[in-house]
Amino acid sequence: MRFSELARVFRKMEDTSSRLALTDELAKVFKESEPGEMRKLVYLCQGIVKPAHEGIELGMAGKLAMRSISISSGKKQEDIEKIYRKEGDLGLAAEIAMGKRTQGVLVRQEPSVEKVYGNFYKIATAGGSGSQDLKVKLLSELLGSCEAEEARILVRFVTGSLRMGVGDATIIDALSYWAAGDKRFHDDIARAYNMRGDLGLVAELLFSKGIEAVKRISPEPFDPIRPALAERLPSAKEIFERLGKCAVEGKYDGFRIQVHVKGGRIEIYSRRQEKITHMFPDIVAAVKKQVKAKEIIFEGEAIAYSDETGTFQPFQVTIQRKRKHEVEEKAAELPLKLFAFELLFIDGKDYTQKPYRERVEKLRQTIAAGDTIDLAHRITASTPEEINAFFDESVSSGLEGIIAKDLEAPYVAGARKFAWIKLKKSYKGELTDTLDVAIVGYYRGKGNRTEFGLGGILTAAYDDSKNVFKTIAKIGTGFSEEQMAQFKKTLDEIKSKDRPAQVDSVLEPDVWVKPKYVVTVNADEITRSPTHTCGIGKIKGHENEGLALRFPRLVGDIRTDKSAEDATTEKEVLEMFSMQKQKATEPSGQA
Ligand code: ATP
Repeated sequence: MRFSELARVFRKMEDTSSRLALTDELAKVFKESEPGEMRKLVYLCQGIVKPAHEGIELGMAGKLAMRSISISSGKKQEDIEKIYRKEGDLGLAAEIAMGKRTQGVLVRQEPSVEKVYGNFYKIATAGGSGSQDLKVKLLSELLGSCEAEEARILVRFVTGSLRMGVGDATIIDALSYWAAGDKRFHDDIARAYNMRGDLGLVAELLFSKGIEAVKRISPEPFDPIRPALAERLPSAKEIFERLGKCAVEGKYDGFRIQVHVKGGRIEIYSRRQEKITHMFPDIVAAVKKQVKAKEIIFEGEAIAYSDETGTFQPFQVTIQRKRKHEVEEKAAELPLKLFAFELLFIDGKDYTQKPYRERVEKLRQTIAAGDTIDLAHRITASTPEEINAFFDESVSSGLEGIIAKDLEAPYVAGARKFAWIKLKKSYKGELTDTLDVAIVGYYRGKGNRTEFGLGGILTAAYDDSKNVFKTIAKIGTGFSEEQMAQFKKTLDEIKSKDRPAQVDSVLEPDVWVKPKYVVTVNADEITRSPTHTCGIGKIKGHENEGLALRFPRLVGDIRTDKSAEDATTEKEVLEMFSMQKQKATEPSGQA
């Protein structure tokens, strides 16, 4: 396929947020692809060159991209910068500059998708001395052989600011339409993707071997599995009504990791499937000592723990261990404990389909006693009172709350299901849970805040059924001065001239940004709102109103462990809103 065809579709897709229209466009692209191209096409649609766990990211710096635009348009770099400053968008600047190129191109070799992908891959993997020049050359080679509108897409892609609102779910729909003519294969494709974290691989298999082969996909060490997530309910009573006799575990507020072992190799992956092994030499050493299996995939929560005081550290402290430099020093200063809670694969056997009680029993047999890895503390509860007692015990030992687990459920990769139900401690007058919201814009700030260029952010919940971000809160409290400057710098790299197609908002921030970063926010309660779009049309009797957070406060920094699509969903916000109403009418609070 020629790149120009793909770029045309990408351009169209930047202007629409209708999931149906996006699916339709993508299915057409897949229909026209050639064997061997499928995998690359899917990665390009995802805006990546390789799945996250391979650690190959594009993210070319804007300055370098400007050099490429300058070379291929024949215009001075200062002129490109001027256009960029005026337009506020490097993709558009490229399109304008290339539209008026001073060096004519007589014979143009239109690049194929294959060629473009190849250059992107080389840009992403170039390293060492001379790599900057190489990147500039690889991009300008592409720009030089493209039309101006294609330049816009190329530059947005390499700098990570492509605005297509296409999420994984839409790509999966499109693959199903392409292969079956309808959504019939969606669930099988999604399951396979959740198992292997590589949609390109699944698409290629679908293309070459058909849906039966996709159905047979099972876990494989070093392909991280997308994590199962927890639902929430407001009380032990409701949890018990839902699950009956169940397992209850402490909810550790650290970070989730997935450990993979095979053939003597050990890797650790984050919740977002990034490879983070080098950050945790202490855990790698403990796996060697304490895990009695040749091949295994298991999960747990890593949390900084002080042996001296016997207490867990808060999330903000634990997260300092997620770093690239001074790893050993920090490991000595903040030793981690890993509380293992899931077994997904062991010695050639897929455990994801087995009931929870079997997975956890096998996990117990596999982990030997030691200082670093332990099993998550757990009871089996036969009454709501037992759940409550364990909840109180967990909270008083410094944990966030509990997670109740269905003893019979399989591991539901990549989905939020009632197989796990969380219950967190509640602070008087506050929501029982924090929310994770995506940043969609920022305000320049008033008074002394103008000095940082950022005084607050506009944030949104994620409507995963439509792949749209809907606003829920303007946050101006909880930022340190350092953070304001840091947020501005980070957000400026992804600013957008207009409201991104994926954002549904009535409010207009001073600067729009592409939904990419997530922050955690605490608030007093969720209230109905005339100005926010989250929940509009979904609140019985108040269809014209949305939902907002009352007195929202930022907690911590940008969450590097979550992507925008991992933000709290609109559906969850609606659930939290109705739980809150229920709670208000209940006499006895939490339980
Ligand atoms: P939160 O922001 O509340 O931690 P989340 O969006 O990260 O939520 P949830 O699905 O709400 O994820 O809660 C599950 C998370 O809780 C897991 O991703 C994991 O990191 C953490 N966790 C801590 N202890 C456990 C446990 N015993 N079993 C499962 N998950 C646990």
